[in-house]
Amino acid sequence: MADFHTCKKCGAPLGQDDIAIYKKMVLRTADEFLCIDCLAEYFGVSREAIEAKVRYFRESGTCALFR
Ligand SMILES: [Zn+2]
Repeated sequence: MADFHTCKKCGAPLGQDDIAIYKKMVLRTADEFLCIDCLAEYFGVSREAIEAKVRYFRESGTCALFR
């Protein structure tokens, strides 16, 4: 896929979940993103808390960002 992004802070390659949760929690129209680790640090929460949100949105099926 041509749609390849890296974390703007640490440069880690990003998956769809990383991008989706960033858009959901930070800025829907963002074109730069943080990985889950850096996003957790940004919000001052644990990585597990972010991953739990990813799971929640994915399983709830109500958010178009998570498919
Ligand atoms: Zn990062």
